[in-house]
Amino acid sequence: MVKRIYNFNPGPAALPTAVLEEIQESFLDFAGTGMSITEVSHRSKQFDEVINDAVERARRLLGIGDDYRVLFIQGGASLQFAMVPMNLLPEGRSADYVNTGTWSTKAIKEAEILGKTFRVPASSEDKNFSYIPKNIDFDENAVYVHLTSNNTIKGTQWAEFPDTKGVPIVCDMSSDIMSRPIDMSRFGLIYAGAQKNIGPAGVCMVIIRNDMLEKADDSLPSMLKYKTYASKNSLYNTPPCFAIYVVQLVLKWLEETMGGLARMDEINRKKAAMLYNLLDTSDFYTGTAEPDSRSLMNVTFRLPNEELEKKFVQEAAQNDLGGLKGHRSVGGCRASIYNATTLDAVETLVDFMKTFEGKNG
Ligand SMILES: *Cc1c(COP(=O)(O)O)cnc(C)c1O
Repeated sequence: MVKRIYNFNPGPAALPTAVLEEIQESFLDFAGTGMSITEVSHRSKQFDEVINDAVERARRLLGIGDDYRVLFIQGGASLQFAMVPMNLLPEGRSADYVNTGTWSTKAIKEAEILGKTFRVPASSEDKNFSYIPKNIDFDENAVYVHLTSNNTIKGTQWAEFPDTKGVPIVCDMSSDIMSRPIDMSRFGLIYAGAQKNIGPAGVCMVIIRNDMLEKADDSLPSMLKYKTYASKNSLYNTPPCFAIYVVQLVLKWLEETMGGLARMDEINRKKAAMLYNLLDTSDFYTGTAEPDSRSLMNVTFRLPNEELEKKFVQEAAQNDLGGLKGHRSVGGCRASIYNATTLDAVETLVDFMKTFEGKNG
């Protein structure tokens, strides 16, 4: 029997066990080819089916039609920090960037390096990014508003997206894509590194609306241009075939086993509620995000002191509960409870936390 632990890693993160088993099962002989998915041509009929199925499933899950393109690009979300302004923000125009944490700050830095014009109409840096700003005065002439939907490190999330006066939202959804239904009409572009919620590291899903794509810069190097990926179905050069294959299987699992995003959202809310209820009723654990800004994906909390936090993470690991250390930049503890983290895993964690408090509180 293979031993698997309860995995609360922030990213790369847990994948559905059923998906890992399917990969294992098909690994030596993929789709009757007598070859592994890692050995077949990206120009083969079999791989075409993989990438097309992944795109179709993403469309169905998010409820989007032909007015958007679904692309697969390497370089992670971090490359998108640069590709977005390179492609979409022309000289003489401005964009709005809301700063809600480490990843937003990095997105802003890339726009700055490129010498682009932008504003930061709101930031939660004054309170260590513990909340999502409200009543933001957006520039109605901006080309886009850049948001980070879920702040993986600080444990905050936009519960609802703000009114941007009709300006399309460009959104880094790396850590909450496919975790809940969204109103796609608000978004001009969504990008998400796969390794948190939809697959392994190595590929980033980019969903771009046709009007944004048409206006995108044509003069960039081929590999940095959205148009290159859109015109070649993400097959201009060799794509990360294995990563795309796993994304396809995760999306199939979401659709067929979990029953879609509304159902997934219900389960995610239940998981998060169990942890936040514990934080709210305990004098031992303290949540770090303001209650109305709490993330359903990354639950960040502190214990009475750093020594206890270290002990907590260690003892949790001894009890097969892994990945609970907070990000190195903020300390404390963090439970990442993405789609693939089960209710059972969260129940086990809550039980452990109560026991730990009983012994150390
Ligand atoms: C992890 C993460 C990133 C960085 O992703 P890479 O794929 O490592 O570049 C960016 N944004 C958010 C919200 C993340 O959680």
